[in-house]
Amino acid sequence: MGEILWVLNRIGWIDLLDILLVGAIFFVIFYLVRGTRAIPLMRGIVLLIILLAVLAGAFRLRAFAWLVDRTLPALLVAIPVVFQPELRRALERLGRAGSLLIRHGGRPSAVEKSLAVVVDTCRILARRKVGALIVLARETGLREYVETGVMLDAAPSSELMISLFDPHIALHDGAVIIHEGKILAAGCILPLSTAFLDDRRLGLRHRAALGITEETDAIAVVVSEERGTISVAHNGRIIRDLDPERLGRVLRAFHQSILESRFPPWLVKWVSRREEAT
Ligand code: ATP
Ligand code: MG
Repeated sequence: MGEILWVLNRIGWIDLLDILLVGAIFFVIFYLVRGTRAIPLMRGIVLLIILLAVLAGAFRLRAFAWLVDRTLPALLVAIPVVFQPELRRALERLGRAGSLLIRHGGRPSAVEKSLAVVVDTCRILARRKVGALIVLARETGLREYVETGVMLDAAPSSELMISLFDPHIALHDGAVIIHEGKILAAGCILPLSTAFLDDRRLGLRHRAALGITEETDAIAVVVSEERGTISVAHNGRIIRDLDPERLGRVLRAFHQSILESRFPPWLVKWVSRREEAT
């Protein structure tokens, strides 16, 4: 007890700040990599370090301590190499959190707007029975598919989208890809799903929608040319015969779930409240 008091007496503001800072850094690191394969590995490494330190300290194993001293720095170099994909994703997340906070390019609202454009476009195309295939990219980059089409990098509008699917123009074949509120490309070729489908009327367009969602975390919206129905594919599954209102709800729910997987819920709520106010 006396020792604890002695220690407490000697802790100053600076030490407290020091500890808080280190704690905060560890918190942020764990928060960013949570739910990835990095967590069990990190737990293993932390346990290993503690075990080694205790062993080397408790038994005064000189040679062993020397070995630990020499290998720990190497381990620190190895961690970024082993966790390169996780670290990259974590840094990307941090970057996005930053852009969400300072509303760099007004991204969240741009995404909301692009969803509204998609819903509008599908409503009109379904009524006219014009086929369409729209991919909404999420975390996974779709560069290899974007490159199969024609790059656009345009702000979404239903007029533009409708003309992109006009059967009289060359670009109408294939998929339009939207990423972070921008039309990236049109006329893109997607991978076809080979899954068994119980409905014979689901042809290549629907298979392409399923295919891209099997291989990536994207969402694909299909307007059927034969039946004028709207379907949404996600995760290798397809929800069929949606009316435009329900399509809007489904897309917004997906969008919300991306935000919540990237950022803490209070931040999402705070930002959307700020957005409503402006
Ligand atoms: P619909 O109900 O509109 O007829 P479907 O599922 O029956 O759709 P098909 O009739 O086979 O599909 O549609 C063919 C169209 O799907 C093509 O004209 C092309 O635009 C698109 N398509 C086919 N394969 C791909 C692909 N791999 N990537 C992107 N688009 C594709
Ligand atoms: Mg068909």
